[in-house]
Amino acid sequence: MKPGANHALSTPYRSGCRCGRIRFRIDATPMMTMACHCRGCQQMSGSAFSLNVAVPSAALIVTQGEPVIGGLHGEQVRHHHCDHCKSWLFTRIEPDPGFANVRVGALDTP
Ligand SMILES: [Zn+2]
Ligand SMILES: [Zn+2]
Repeated sequence: MKPGANHALSTPYRSGCRCGRIRFRIDATPMMTMACHCRGCQQMSGSAFSLNVAVPSAALIVTQGEPVIGGLHGEQVRHHHCDHCKSWLFTRIEPDPGFANVRVGALDTP
């Protein structure tokens, strides 16, 4: 395989919201993939679970736009959304446990 031919599946993982106003990238290989079946994920996704990748928190970098906090339920879990299209993009936890959860559907190559 030529160098760069597998670009879509190597870092940085490029990601964004549905309308394109928010763009972010992940500069590290995801630590794990999980299907979270908690009640909050069910309510926010309207589905049985939400599919996430855990990535090192410092490796998640917003490159365009300013996400807003949504899905309010306590102060420790901060769900980041696009303020225009309302896409649920990623979740940071405070205090930072060292990882953030990114919705798999936000990845350009989910
Ligand atoms: Zn958007
Ligand atoms: Zn959950």
